[in-house]
Amino acid sequence: MLKLLCVTAHPDDEAGAFGGTLLLYEERGVETFVICLTAGTAARNRGTARSDAELAAIRRAEFAASCKLLKVNYGEVLDYPDSKLDRADLHQVVGELVLRIRRIRPDVLMTFGPDGGLTGHLDHAMAGVFATMAFEWAGRDDRYPEQLQQGLTSHRARKLYYHTADFRLDDRQPFSPPTVTARIEIGRERSHKKIEAFQLHATQAPLFERVRKNFSQVAGPFEMYHLAATSGPRDAKPETDLFEGIS
Ligand SMILES: [Zn+2]
Repeated sequence: MLKLLCVTAHPDDEAGAFGGTLLLYEERGVETFVICLTAGTAARNRGTARSDAELAAIRRAEFAASCKLLKVNYGEVLDYPDSKLDRADLHQVVGELVLRIRRIRPDVLMTFGPDGGLTGHLDHAMAGVFATMAFEWAGRDDRYPEQLQQGLTSHRARKLYYHTADFRLDDRQPFSPPTVTARIEIGRERSHKKIEAFQLHATQAPLFERVRKNFSQVAGPFEMYHLAATSGPRDAKPETDLFEGIS
């Protein structure tokens, strides 16, 4: 069975950035996984939570509900500090991701680019940096060799994609997005389901109107990606399928 792993920064990224793609590939028989690095406790929008611990618990539950709607086979929220991923320990975070890549053994990995993916959020950028190093290092037996002494074997995913877009949002700091190399047609129905999944993140309700508008008016029924790396050399070419070239 083919496997798709998505690495995100906050609960709701799985829906807002990658939701249509996750749904599409699950429906095509691909096993889907989401690893989210933070519980999103730096959020301005906090629902009824009175503390960070309460907000973390609520957002973890929202993430689980969203993953269920998006038919994600396995979702996990790690415990790194929200809004501070640029100060997290690179060796540790990448090690945790390498461990999961070696366990899950995905064919394709998708994450944000170093621009921070459409919103320019620093946590998105860092999630992409960590995931990129994990993509590279999971396949080398000289990286995190202690994991390999516990029965795991190294694993090379075939392709690494960054979330990107051919438009920009207003009111953001400047950033330079990765080029669009893959346009995935998610269709109207999955587009609606993606919005529905985002809205299961009830703590983020004040964002719903703006996000819904971005999805339907700007992005339409497409999610766009940049092919950042492959396990073998190849020329760049436009794609409509993240699993193109993988049987
Ligand atoms: Zn986010």
